[in-house]
Amino acid sequence: MTPESAASRPPFIIPFFIVHQGCPHRCVFCNQTSITGQAEGAGQITPRQVAAGIAARLDRPRRYPEAEVQVAFYGGSFTGLPPGRQAELLAAVAPFLEQGLVRAVRLSTRPDCVDHGTAVFLADRGVRIVELGVQSMDAAVLAASGRGYGPGEVGRALRNLRGAGLQVGGQLMVGLPGENSRRAMDSARQLAALAPDFVRIYPTLVVAGSALALDYAAGSYRPLSLHQAVARTARIKAIFDACTIPVVRMGLQDGTALTQHLIAGPHHPAFGEMVLAWLFFKKVRHVLRQRAGKGGCLTMAAADESIFRGPGNLYRQRLMALGLLTGVEVVFEYGLPRHTVRVHWAG
Ligand code: SF4
Repeated sequence: MTPESAASRPPFIIPFFIVHQGCPHRCVFCNQTSITGQAEGAGQITPRQVAAGIAARLDRPRRYPEAEVQVAFYGGSFTGLPPGRQAELLAAVAPFLEQGLVRAVRLSTRPDCVDHGTAVFLADRGVRIVELGVQSMDAAVLAASGRGYGPGEVGRALRNLRGAGLQVGGQLMVGLPGENSRRAMDSARQLAALAPDFVRIYPTLVVAGSALALDYAAGSYRPLSLHQAVARTARIKAIFDACTIPVVRMGLQDGTALTQHLIAGPHHPAFGEMVLAWLFFKKVRHVLRQRAGKGGCLTMAAADESIFRGPGNLYRQRLMALGLLTGVEVVFEYGLPRHTVRVHWAG
């Protein structure tokens, strides 16, 4: 295993959930208990438990032992915790960092809980990656979602973190209250202009125990359909792709807790794959429309066969229904880079 290939492996993450800790209030869509499966009070993890948890996880065999080990604090607003609490949790990781057993700490927090001093404090204690729950860059959407900050705070937080040498990820949501397609695209463009190191995009779901669940029951909030959420996420991804900002995740991880608490909304275990399939469908359709009906050969990467077909073969059938595959031989080739579409027209 070369250093390059080790670096290209996704990191091996040891997560600790600090459920809702550090959050100044509850955002309307949020119930971390539903997502993490951990009760709110159960999130009071001690430094000793953090150290023991890391040691236990490092002792167990790993599929890719060469992958970089990171410790993560998720599920709350880490930098909203009292500084002493932040320091003791990070101090629990420090011996593993010093021995090289853990390479970095990553955590998630809110934009309004990061000033210059916070960013330096984190960088000094081995934190390398901070994920900001941006969710939207639209002031009205942020207000309707009960976030309690405006877009200006996102920019400030990002600059403070970058200034301290930290990598910054931005989380965006689609389908928040008050959002529409135009606001979602504007939001993505504004976040892209701030140049985060990577982005995650999540659909807004209605989960039990959230304020949104009450709005949904009262009929004042309607979630996006699965197709709307996929199409909107695809357009947002295209904005970040154009800026070469990696979108590292689309859709929430499936889990028993989420399934049990989900009331409504565009959740699908293969949400990210559906977005990729939608984008690929549009790309292939565009290529085929150039010479519709002329016949020829369409070559794609073998790894893209499933996104070419789409869920339940939907997109292939749609291309056929449009007459765009008439007289076209479809070839899947091993070794081609993903998302390649090559055409050789007849004649
Ligand atoms: S969305 Fe983030 S800041 Fe809001 S309540 Fe949930 S964990 Fe806390």
